[in-house]
Amino acid sequence: MLIQVEQLTRIYTMGDSVVRALDGVDIDIDAGEFVSITGASGSGKSTFMHLLGGLDRPTGGSYLLDGQSMSRLSDWKLARIRNRSIGFVFQTFNLINRTSAIDNVAVPLIYGRETKTRAKAMAALERVGLANRHNHRPSEMSGGERQRVAIARAVVNNPSVILADEPTGNLDSQTGTQILDIFHELNASGTTIVLVTHEMSVAVQARRLIHMTDGLIDVDRSITDELRRDLVRDDLLRAARLQSEPVIKEAG
Ligand code: ADP
Ligand code: MG
Repeated sequence: MLIQVEQLTRIYTMGDSVVRALDGVDIDIDAGEFVSITGASGSGKSTFMHLLGGLDRPTGGSYLLDGQSMSRLSDWKLARIRNRSIGFVFQTFNLINRTSAIDNVAVPLIYGRETKTRAKAMAALERVGLANRHNHRPSEMSGGERQRVAIARAVVNNPSVILADEPTGNLDSQTGTQILDIFHELNASGTTIVLVTHEMSVAVQARRLIHMTDGLIDVDRSITDELRRDLVRDDLLRAARLQSEPVIKEAG
């Protein structure tokens, strides 16, 4: 089992208010799985991803990655595992805008004191079809290209798992499909993928669907072809209904 999570909680306290962002989550994820996580805004998806990625520490519960307890590691060891075993992809790309694509991709290699960084970064850019644009800065690239650079950076150390939080949230649907294709290829070559999305048409592309409500997992099931058809149809219907709502035009 790659990921073993038991009774994981994350409580935020601000003054008198207490938010149970994660309220005791249990889940196992096997190596090689492609899992999507959906749920309403505020249901705890990002909080969960941050914990899985070692970007944040839980209030309680346990989390084993590849048999190693992530909650008990020192900051230094946690940073090392994050760098080697986990690739993170964000909605807003999080690239360094004033430096080239290849230098962005090389960042985790430099942190990890790797050698042959240029060749490895180039190979990662090739995996996302951007080798020819390695000298361009993110500011000279489209949103889809930026996200592909971010994916190259996430895979450059050959992590065992990729955690992607709304990776297509800032992209049009055609570009989003290209990004999903890359995730499918990475998964086919053995990388475990956990993908957060609020779009059902994206979520159903995984093989396992998790739904969160109020900091808890309330659905965890495999996606059959039949379910995939039904969910996409339902999503389209809902979109069509929303579009047929009367639009109140702004004055002027
Ligand atoms: P989602 O990604 O599903 O939209 P989040 O994990 O971002 O949900 O948030 C879950 C809950 O935790 C929300 O109620 C949110 O307001 C709260 N929350 C998230 N991050 C923080 C934070 N840094 N401080 C306080 N509350 C937070
Ligand atoms: Mg979120």
